[in-house]
Amino acid sequence: FSPITDETAIMNAAPVMKARLLANENPFGPSPAAKKAIVDSLDTSYQYAFSSISDLSGKIAAYEGIKKSNLLLASGSSPLLLAAAIHYSKGGKNIITADPSYDDLPTQATRFEGKWVKVPLTADFKLDLDAMEAKVDENTGLVYICNPNNPTATIVDTEKLKAFCERVSKKTMVFVDEAYIDYLPDPKASSMMGCVIAGQNVIIARTFSKLYGFAGLRCGYIVGQPETVRTLSKYTSAAMSLSASTVAAAIAGYQETEFLKDALKKTNASKDYLYSVLKKEGYTYIPSSANFVMFPLKMEGSKFTGELMKRGVGVRNWRFNNQDWCRISIGRMDEMEAFAAAFKEIS
Ligand code: PLP
Repeated sequence: FSPITDETAIMNAAPVMKARLLANENPFGPSPAAKKAIVDSLDTSYQYAFSSISDLSGKIAAYEGIKKSNLLLASGSSPLLLAAAIHYSKGGKNIITADPSYDDLPTQATRFEGKWVKVPLTADFKLDLDAMEAKVDENTGLVYICNPNNPTATIVDTEKLKAFCERVSKKTMVFVDEAYIDYLPDPKASSMMGCVIAGQNVIIARTFSKLYGFAGLRCGYIVGQPETVRTLSKYTSAAMSLSASTVAAAIAGYQETEFLKDALKKTNASKDYLYSVLKKEGYTYIPSSANFVMFPLKMEGSKFTGELMKRGVGVRNWRFNNQDWCRISIGRMDEMEAFAAAFKEIS
């Protein structure tokens, strides 16, 4: 699959849009407490953030029931995806992913020595775990699981994924990207964190960019075995890349239940509205477990995104299964209404 639109042009245009529904951001964040922490942090921002990074690690480790040595922080999860891409593709190894799925890690791997093995989704647009497992061989460097999956917003059965991690991690590294896990009703119950705690060869990636609303602030982390963390920390240094203000905001906002619940509630209200608009206009969609929705288009994908863009509405298009699709991120209600008005005009 490939997004057909000119990504750079779209991203550059994005700040002036009426409705910015193209990067799976959360316009309801960051929380007031996180914003206040940024302002309060400024007086001491001449200092490196060594000790506050350690405080944030401690908070995350305590919540997840892991040790600090299981944890590696970075300015977003992207630098950690890159580290894994470089490391696990060394020597021309295969990176197995679903197709379509979030393509950053495998794309980066192919810029180094890696080869990308793509496994189509099931008929109901979920990761085909059996087919992915069947591709694992002695030349596999890593299997990338995105759950919930971007761009389809589908999830796999938790017990099935746990069993997959247990079996497959004996043969190769399993990387589970849980960027959107906070959008699930019970993130802890759906996470593969227990696999790491059980000592398996599994890496979990998390980010503050989504439900926490920190995409521009940049904070993410991976959890893995201490040896894995030591290996990947050679590629990126938390202390020299995270800003003190971001770390202060992350400490203030971490597991801030009321704020997260409220952001989720607003997201779900906007999503329900979007579903009703699509139904009214005679469109189907893939039911979403995240803050974006994929639906099949009735016109060429780039024409659709171009026409919406002319009306100040930014969305993305994909092509797979011989079909053009739109991926629309969930925004504020006024943004969804702007989409609805533009959509009605062109469909
Ligand atoms: N993983 C997934 C599945 C994503 O969709 C994204 C961004 O959209 C990222 C990772 C990267 O996020 P960040 O670098 O902001 O943590």
